[in-house]
This record gives sequence, C-alpha cells and structure tokens, in this order.
Amino acid sequence: MTATELSFYDRISDALANPEGQLAIAAGARAKHMNRASAMAEFPNMEITRERARHIRARTLSQLDYFLAQFADNVESLGGHVFWAKDAKECNRYINEIARAQDVQLVAKAKSMLTEEISLNESLQASGINVVETDLGEFIVQLSGDKPSHIIAPILHMTRQQVGNVFKEKLNVPFSDDPATLNAVVRAHMREIFLKADMGISGVNFGVAESGALCLVTNEGNGRLISTTPRIHVAVMGMERLVPTLVDLSTMLQLLARSATGQKLSVYSNVLCGPRRENESDGPEELHIVILDNGRSQILGTSLAEILYCIRCGACLNACPVFHSIGGHAYGSVYSGPVGSVLSPLLFGDSWNLLPHASTLCGACKEVCPVDIDLPGLLLKLRAKESEKGESPLWMRLGQWIYAVTTCNPILFGLALRTGQLISRILANEGWFTKLPGPLQGWSAQRDFPALAQSSFRQMWDKSSKG
Ligand code: SF4
Repeated sequence: MTATELSFYDRISDALANPEGQLAIAAGARAKHMNRASAMAEFPNMEITRERARHIRARTLSQLDYFLAQFADNVESLGGHVFWAKDAKECNRYINEIARAQDVQLVAKAKSMLTEEISLNESLQASGINVVETDLGEFIVQLSGDKPSHIIAPILHMTRQQVGNVFKEKLNVPFSDDPATLNAVVRAHMREIFLKADMGISGVNFGVAESGALCLVTNEGNGRLISTTPRIHVAVMGMERLVPTLVDLSTMLQLLARSATGQKLSVYSNVLCGPRRENESDGPEELHIVILDNGRSQILGTSLAEILYCIRCGACLNACPVFHSIGGHAYGSVYSGPVGSVLSPLLFGDSWNLLPHASTLCGACKEVCPVDIDLPGLLLKLRAKESEKGESPLWMRLGQWIYAVTTCNPILFGLALRTGQLISRILANEGWFTKLPGPLQGWSAQRDFPALAQSSFRQMWDKSSKG
C-alpha cells in the first residue's frame, strides 16, 4: 500500500465537511453496533465463549509455524496447491502466472480485505484480465471507482440514492433507490459472471489446520458460487488466519457473525476441503491457497502481536466514536477504525504513524472485540513508540514536559489548579469551553471541553472534614 496524497488531517477535514457521508456512516455503524449488543445479550455463554476464542487465537499464534505446516500438508494431501508468499509482489505474481498459464479471461471475486491490501485487482487488470467483484457492496465500490470504507460493509459511506445513481450511470438502468430493485439488477448481472468466470478468487475467514479445510463466510452466497463454479479457485489467506480444529472453528463462528452484524450465524458458512474429486459433481478442478505474510511475521513475538488475534468482524469500527465521525476513508488504509489504527502502521510503515491518535481511548473497542484485544493498550504503545522517536510536534512535547513537571510538584500543581478554576469561572459557559485557544482548538471544533470543577476532590474533602 502507498500513502494517499492528502495528509491524514486533510482527509479528516474532507470527511467532516461531508455531512451526508457522515450521517450515512454514523447511522450504519450505530445500527450494526446495536444489533451486536442485542445478539450478545441473548447469547447465554458470551463471556465464556469470548474467553475461549481468545485462548484459541493465542494458542494458534504461539505455535503458528506448527499449525501452518500442518495446514499446508493437509491442503496438499487433499489435492490443493499451497504457495507461500512473502509479500504482495510475490502473491500477485503467482496468481498472475496461474491466470496466464490457464488462459484466464474473467475472474469472479468474493470480498477480501487481504486482496485489497495487496491491490490484486489492479495487478490482474494490468495483465488484461477482467476482474468482477461479486459481493454487492464491493461491486458497487468497483462500479463507482471508489474504495471500501469498512472491513465488512464496503459502502457504509453511501446512501441508497447514491447507489441508485451509480447503477443508472454505469449499468444503464432506470434510477431506483429501492433495495429490492437494486438487488435484482445485480443478481441478473452476476449470474452471467458466475457462469462465465474461469477463476474464482476469495479470501479465507479461517483455515483449519487439522484438516486443511477453508472456511468462507458470506451473507450473499457469492463465496460458494465463486469457489465451486469456475474451474480454478484461488484463496488468499493471511498467515495468521488459522484455527487448530473444526471445534475451534465452531467457537469462532459463534462470535464472528454476532460481532459483525448481530446475526447468530452468517447466511453461508462454507467449509471447503480441496478441489473437486472424481466422484463429485461440483467444485473447482484446481485449488490454490496462497499463504501471505506481507509484514505479519514481523509483528509476531512483539509486544503488539495481539493485533494478529483479529478475526476482522468490524465490531470495533462500529463502536468507535471517531470512526462514526470521520468514516473509513479518512484513515487512508484498507484497515480503518481501531483495528486499522494499530494494524496499518505495523503493516504499511511510517506513513500511517498518525493513525493511533485517531482514538479517544474510551475503551469501547476493547469491550466489543470478540477476542478481547486490548486495542486502547496497543494504540498507547504505538503512540509511545512514536513519541520516543521525538517526532511529535514541539508544542506537544513542551506541553507534556510542563504537565510532567507540574503534576510532580504539589505547589505547582495547586497553583495550576487554582488558575484553571479561575479561568473556568471566567470563560466557561455552563461548565463547558466551546472554543479552546491555539493548537488545542482542534479539540473544540467538534465538541466542547469540560471546565474544571470549582472544588477539587481534596478541597471538598478538607472542607467536609473541617465542617
Ligand atoms: S480488533 Fe476485534 S473487534 Fe476489531 S475487527 Fe478485529 S476482532 Fe473485530
């Protein structure tokens, strides 16, 4: 991935200047967040299952070399091919080679953030291959020349009217903003693609080490069609996306859909074992699984390795007040929200170092994470790493120094407190500052800042013990 031309702050300003997009994002994310909350409230063993899921992810990653080897052996014994790709270049080159060798003209793709991460579509299209996204949201993103703004809901930023206009312009159909009509248009268009595609490409939600099975989870059935109808299926899997056993898979599936959309299970949970065998009537003639590193092995074994537990449910995006305000595009990365703010700098480098600041550290992301990743803790570690490099702006470093000196000295602290109380009394409006000065004004541009209480806890304590 390369950084976009605009700076992070410019992208945020653009997002905040688009109230229609902001409304669509906040409404969509909040609805998913509420659906998740109801589904979890009805799930009797939620906390036990969550603990078990975390344990499964921790165990898998602590013996990843063992489970990867077991998975690859089992895939090959089922008749599949395994390719180990160090980075995006190796992965794209391998898939291009298969396509060229097999005279592939048309690729039907299921939604995969990993293939977005490595720009696989662009790479295949540059070789003259027609690639069609078959997930409804991804198809709309592709038609409109846009980028997905959410890891599970690619068009969270769009309204129905905008989708209707895209269809009218790109598919030459009458305008409609009725979801059923729009779905029918896509269904008719997609049937041909599924039947004609030479190659299907998908991501992998989970690989099962003990059997070499792949689990693909979709709500539209397109994952099933692209992995069974074309003669070749290529599945691109992040090297961390394994579970040891089928029983472990069942634990993860109980949490994935509930966390993502509030469903008990996604509509289609496909477990695929190798290519078509002689006595079978459907399935691909060839199955290729590309196991992609692309920076993940550098995270393993570090103090930030917990981020690799992530199962890409999107719950932390839906819970995040910052994501509600700025949406996914402002992050400038395929991975947005709290998970993206940790993952992007680790996978894509220093151009994404500001992302960990896109958090209020309210902890909502950790609360909803089905594998209990300490996202606020990881964001703080990344901020500390950046601050240790001495790259924070001068005003911030100076402010931190003044804060440290003041809070370590009781006389200075008392003086600062009384000054703050005086300023609050004079300038605050009903307990709130609506406009902060200098570099702090960014804070009050979107919300008010609380004034200092007129009596500190200690002052109240002293007063009550004297009284
Ligand atoms: S970090 Fe947790 S909540 Fe966020 S996408 Fe990953 S698994 Fe879901």
